[in-house]
Amino acid sequence: MKNEMDLKTDCRTCRSHLADVLVDESYVSAHPEIAAHMVACAECRTELEDLQSTFALLDAWTAPEPSPYFDAKLHARLREAQASAPEGLWDRVCSFLLFSTGRRLRPAMAGALALVLVLGGGGTFAGLYQHPAVVTQASPTVNDLKILDNNAQALQQMDQLLDSSDDDSAPPTT
Ligand SMILES: [Zn+2]
Repeated sequence: MKNEMDLKTDCRTCRSHLADVLVDESYVSAHPEIAAHMVACAECRTELEDLQSTFALLDAWTAPEPSPYFDAKLHARLREAQASAPEGLWDRVCSFLLFSTGRRLRPAMAGALALVLVLGGGGTFAGLYQHPAVVTQASPTVNDLKILDNNAQALQQMDQLLDSSDDDSAPPTT
């Protein structure tokens, strides 16, 4: 006779095989120790029957059909959402960058410009960062800022040219 402890251990083993028994009827005949336990143990039999009835319910369950107006309502709501959206995310980001006077943005912009100076052609350390991998890692925002910075440098150089052409006696101060 088995004692209580042995029976519990066997139940744990039996439960771990229940999924296999569920999907394959011949699994029990291939594992006689499971079949013997199922005969002896009412709990495991009940467990298997519960699983079987649950799966039978799932087999019989069918997803409900949507109401005939579901598609029409969905498309109407989508059109409403599109019409009510004031502007796209990119527009909002642009307006924020253009019109924001918040001071939180300033350090970020200063940091980005410093990064541009290091990565771009204008910096003293530009020679150290000419590796192509570094250039391709620059984000679109950094590239835009780089273009802005280059434009500012071009304007500055034009001012210097105009200043030096006004006064021919003074040497260029570059
Ligand atoms: Zn059992």
